[in-house]
Amino acid sequence: MAIDPNAPTLERRHLRRRCVQCGLAADAISSNNKELCPRCGCNLSARPPRSYAEMEGLFDLPPDAVVVDARIRARADAASARWLLVVAAVGLAAIATLAATMMMVGTRG
Ligand SMILES: [Zn+2]
Repeated sequence: MAIDPNAPTLERRHLRRRCVQCGLAADAISSNNKELCPRCGCNLSARPPRSYAEMEGLFDLPPDAVVVDARIRARADAASARWLLVVAAVGLAAIATLAATMMMVGTRG
């Protein structure tokens, strides 16, 4: 990610990639030595320099499994509540029809 030179200082600080072991800025690591950090000897191919924002997952956040599960459960609960309402309404209508029929039969006989 390219850092906007006009971005606020704090933002630039959060976006600057650094050695994850010693914090040396990635732009201070010479381009002919991309394998090892010149300050601490960290293996940069195994642990590439990352920014604070990248390490904290502030960008491109993967969907949180717990949140996704909760949303799916809430949607399923809402769907079952709607179906329960439909079944209750149909049952009430059936009982009302039965009661009306029984009253009509009762008044005739
Ligand atoms: Zn280092």
